Amino acid sequence: MLPQNPPVEDLTSTAMEHKIAEQPALANGKTNGHTNGNGNANGTSTLPGLDASKMTITRADPTLRAVPDEDTACAGNETICTDHMITVTWKLGSGWSAPELKPYGPLSLMPTASVLHYATECFEGLKAYRGHDGALRLFRPDLNAKRMLMSTLRISLPGFAPAEVEKLILALMAVDGPKWLPASRPGSYLYLRPAVIGTNPQLGVQAPKEALLFITASFMPRMDAPPGGMKLHTNPEDMIRAWVGGFGYAKVGANYGPSLLATNEARDRGFGQILWLYGPEGYCTEAGASNFFVVWRTKEGALQLVTAPLDDKLILDGVTRRSVVELAKERLAGELEVVERKYTIDEVVEADKEGRLVESFAAGTAFFICPVSHIRHRDYDVQIPMVKGESGHYTAKIKGWMTDIMYGNEQHPWGVVVDEQK
Ligand SMILES: *Cc1c(COP(=O)(O)O)cnc(C)c1O
Repeated sequence: MLPQNPPVEDLTSTAMEHKIAEQPALANGKTNGHTNGNGNANGTSTLPGLDASKMTITRADPTLRAVPDEDTACAGNETICTDHMITVTWKLGSGWSAPELKPYGPLSLMPTASVLHYATECFEGLKAYRGHDGALRLFRPDLNAKRMLMSTLRISLPGFAPAEVEKLILALMAVDGPKWLPASRPGSYLYLRPAVIGTNPQLGVQAPKEALLFITASFMPRMDAPPGGMKLHTNPEDMIRAWVGGFGYAKVGANYGPSLLATNEARDRGFGQILWLYGPEGYCTEAGASNFFVVWRTKEGALQLVTAPLDDKLILDGVTRRSVVELAKERLAGELEVVERKYTIDEVVEADKEGRLVESFAAGTAFFICPVSHIRHRDYDVQIPMVKGESGHYTAKIKGWMTDIMYGNEQHPWGVVVDEQK
């Protein structure tokens, strides 16, 4: 008899739920919950899971490379990474190997590697912040680690306990933080890029049998205050970023390459990013690879902070977005209502025409909180007020709170201090 199958319409979410349900076992038993055909009867194998405590360290010669200043580091066409990186390999038959912290350098892949053909790649992005109090902090890294697990499982890469990834990120910063983000540079940051790729050298569309998890730390230019604000162009009518039933909610590489055609076209016309609309209604979803917010007054006069909802899985559940929503609910209660709902570009245009549009900003790790000043939709130009200098009032307020938490001006549970090796 065939096993009982879930209803076909639930296949993806059921598969994801099964895989995620296996993960707590990983946290305790450090076993490998990957069930790409190798699971035992109860679906959990006893192969080694990802285990940060097994990490080996091979140090780079610290005198080989000097730390450039931020502007120099970001001026060229190559991302400047720190002295070290972390790599961990996984194999279907043997689980996760011991993580290696080692000198930064090229990876070795066969031309037939899964990632190079079938987009079996997902990534994360978070920053490490050198505080004004001298401490080095990550911002809610647990959320990045959990999201990476979700993205990983979405593309049939192996599962892991998210807490182990968080430990690896902290370990890399513990080693490279003191030199690359020195206490003499308070208010500066490094960008952390964890990623997982399918590496098995075998053509054929199938779930990867080998994988590599790696983490780098690098410089990244500041993008949160472009002169005159961020200018958005809505997507062309024949192109969308994500769709219901797709994978827009996962940070998989396959979401980004195909978006560049429209982004470059917008750049040529003097715009910074695409405002991605969805459906014949023109629902506002995301601004480039950032979440998108507007502040408006309703026709009844209520002040609202509005952003797209997560439930239809079109948009990415941004850590910055979530933090903005939580902080605004907590600290602006009574002043402004926080609304997560579907809303259309026509509603934004109408609010603009009726003088009800108050502010707009993009939110994400790379762009941080970036004021939006202009949206071109077809032949209409929405001009958004930038009351307080180069930013709206609420935009500046929320950005200030986030900055204070990141750089330790406010002690807050979201700021996780790195125990540095000095
Ligand atoms: C990474 C990303 C964001 C921002 O997420 P954060 O966790 O805030 O950095 C938003 N949208 C897309 C499409 C992204 O890839």
